[in-house]
Amino acid sequence: MQSGTTEKLCVIVGAGMSGLLAARTLKQAGIRTIVFDEAREVGGRMSTCRFGDGVFDDGAQFFTVRDTCFAALVAAWQSEDVVAVWSHGFAKPDGSNNQDGHPRYRGIGGMAAIPTHLARGLDVRTAVRVSAVQHSGGYWLVQMDDGPTVRADALLITSPSEKSVALVTAGGYPLPTLVRAALENIEYTRCIAVLALLDGESNVPEPGGVQYSGDNGAGEPVWWLAENQRKGISPQASAITIHAGPRFSLENWDRTDDEVVTALIGSVHLFVGSRVREVRTRRWQYSQPVEPHSEPCLVAAETPPLVFAGDAFGGAKIEGAALSGLAAAEHIRRLLV
Ligand SMILES: Cc1cc2nc3c(=O)[nH]c(=O)nc-3n(C[C@H](O)[C@H](O)[C@H](O)COP(=O)(O)OP(=O)(O)OC[C@H]3O[C@@H](n4cnc5c(N)ncnc54)[C@H](O)[C@@H]3O)c2cc1C
Repeated sequence: MQSGTTEKLCVIVGAGMSGLLAARTLKQAGIRTIVFDEAREVGGRMSTCRFGDGVFDDGAQFFTVRDTCFAALVAAWQSEDVVAVWSHGFAKPDGSNNQDGHPRYRGIGGMAAIPTHLARGLDVRTAVRVSAVQHSGGYWLVQMDDGPTVRADALLITSPSEKSVALVTAGGYPLPTLVRAALENIEYTRCIAVLALLDGESNVPEPGGVQYSGDNGAGEPVWWLAENQRKGISPQASAITIHAGPRFSLENWDRTDDEVVTALIGSVHLFVGSRVREVRTRRWQYSQPVEPHSEPCLVAAETPPLVFAGDAFGGAKIEGAALSGLAAAEHIRRLLV
């Protein structure tokens, strides 16, 4: 498959926050983009799932804003009814409220509403796994699993860094030593999420989130507890999300779902308050980078451009991923003109 046009084409691997924002920015600059994601839905770790009559944010729970550029984007999303302020702090494990005045934002209807909004009008192809990328004749050849090859003028890779290195290695491209070392240095915590649909109301205090991490809460075995009905995204049913801490997640990664559900629900039983009607688990192998790379993105090649971005660069979390996507798009735009 060729790009079929004289317009410059940038292929983006990953339709999470970083990849989608980069695609929108490049499109505004007149550069064509195709975004590939191996998942069935866009959003990556900004994920909302449904079962029974419950709606659950199972990955990222909320986000904060520090940077003025990101603040402008968030203000626009607010005016478009895509995001809302959830709270100005969360409860502590002892049930007391810990308001600090800083807004915490959520997607309206769930966190996935934000990437879904960002993907509108873009050429995003889901359920397509990129298996290798190859440098050939002044282009990037992007190989899909069992599928065609796309020839691109520029390539942006936003998958977890270990997977990004594997894509380039599979295509036989020798990454510069410092770039490879920077990518290989990035480690991620794991997170086991338990999602429980309740028969009645929970005892999770306002505003529907309990933060076990930080201060005197060790964050183990439970890091975070949310009640998605109180959060405002699960109107029909009380639906709780439990995130295990990084140590528990690592040590219990291979245990059965029943075992982790029993341990984690047992740890928060005072807040559960009602019978659990149905339960699911989700394992996030690449949950959050332990120590992001200091630069907002990594330019591995200039002609043709190869750039790595995502929350492993710059500032971590959703805001860091957004800023990384913007920075990567700016590099690619400059290199393609
Ligand atoms: C459990 C959990 C809780 C979190 N809580 C918060 C929070 O409360 N606040 C906050 O700010 N952040 C939180 N985060 C972090 C936040 O979700 C991420 O920082 C952010 O969403 C990362 O965006 P990204 O674009 O860098 O990567 P991702 O969202 O991971 O996107 C990368 C995409 O690449 C795709 N991909 C990978 N390999 C391939 C391939 N070979 N071919 C095609 N596609 C591929 C993946 O399917 C994925 O969709 C949390 C994350 C997790 C997992």
